[in-house]
Amino acid sequence: MKVLVIGSGAREHALCRSLSLDPDVSALHCAPGNAGIAEVAELHAVDALDGAAVAALATEVEADLVVVGPEAPLVAGVADAVRAAGIACFGPSKEAAQLEGSKAFAKEVMAAAGVPTARSYVCTTPDEVDEALDAFGAPYVVKDDGLAAGKGVVVTGHIEAARAHANACDRVVIEEYLDGPEVSLFAITDGTTVVPLQPAQDFKRALDNDEGPNTGGMGAYSPLPWADPKLVDEVLQTVLQPTVDELRRRGTPFSGLLYAGLAITSRGVRVIEFNARFGDPETQVVLARLKTPLAGVLLAAANGTLADLEPLRWSDDAAVTVVVASHNYPGTPRTGDAIEGLDEVAAQDAPHAYVLHAGTKQDGPAVVSAGGRVLSVTATGADLTQARERAYTALSRIQLEGSQHRTDIAAKAAEAAGD
Ligand code: AMP
Repeated sequence: MKVLVIGSGAREHALCRSLSLDPDVSALHCAPGNAGIAEVAELHAVDALDGAAVAALATEVEADLVVVGPEAPLVAGVADAVRAAGIACFGPSKEAAQLEGSKAFAKEVMAAAGVPTARSYVCTTPDEVDEALDAFGAPYVVKDDGLAAGKGVVVTGHIEAARAHANACDRVVIEEYLDGPEVSLFAITDGTTVVPLQPAQDFKRALDNDEGPNTGGMGAYSPLPWADPKLVDEVLQTVLQPTVDELRRRGTPFSGLLYAGLAITSRGVRVIEFNARFGDPETQVVLARLKTPLAGVLLAAANGTLADLEPLRWSDDAAVTVVVASHNYPGTPRTGDAIEGLDEVAAQDAPHAYVLHAGTKQDGPAVVSAGGRVLSVTATGADLTQARERAYTALSRIQLEGSQHRTDIAAKAAEAAGD
């Protein structure tokens, strides 16, 4: 099978790594990719948002399957362009991707499907904003309606900050605050059959102890030793299957990766948000534990044959990933700094720990930073404590001037599990 992956983050590096280890994959291409992905796939300098260009590339490399990583190309209709060229594509249509592209649309689908979520109002004027903020009280949750790479959401106890964010957006969703631990649950679907993956937890805030601003994600781990073993089944029945059924009923079936961001509240599971693609950084830990070769699973979703798929096989190992971000991320990050120590990790920590690249690029013989999130240092171990130790040991060998990372990824869960 010849596979083309679209994107350039650590999520795409994780996808490419798994696909490169799959004996069914005979050729692996990626556009645009990064310095790390170049070690396992052939890179192509094609704009990920340009559907016609992606479809032309897929035709040129004779791809049997295109896997679209990020949300922006999906919302731009890249999966539709690939399918129109007669090539199987893992990723939802432009219309179905509105589940992520518009928070208001997602709320409306959830209401129709009876999926439990936070009560909310869609607001377009300052008066509506004030009314909604008053109705729910603090802490305030204000979400830009459109795509914002995980950074369009403000959760704050300060009404002025809530108001300022709301009035800076054209259209916002204001909703009740959901109290409780968060879980990311991914499911592969062909529009009818839904196959959940293993749950993970990510760390959205920039600083230790969940302080600082929201980011795209600073680390993740899986499994969740503290979660109810019945959680996945419950979410499949109450959230994932009803959502997929509702979108099919509307004539806009969702195929690809349905990501449910959940809060486990005292009143039960609630959906915080849906995403229409693999989450980053949770993909790094979920794929580290998946034993079933990946390509066949993604192709079955793209071809509508998931019902025939054998049950997925999972490793009992735990996995932890820690993001190394540039100086000043999630503000305007500093880029162009040399990254040292990658060879040492490959020589001393493989195969249990490895570095997945995000914002990196090759600059002559050097690998340099080229974005906010730069690396995802990922490790597996018999339990979370061992996976954590391995990830942080590998991370300690890497030098990137001014870089930042959290030191507490999976720490509480490892401690609570008594690993
Ligand atoms: P989202 O982009 O919707 O995932 O929001 C980003 C982050 O904001 C989530 O991962 C939560 O940590 C937080 N958040 C979003 N909505 C709520 C809510 N209703 N209650 C509490 N926290 C929330």
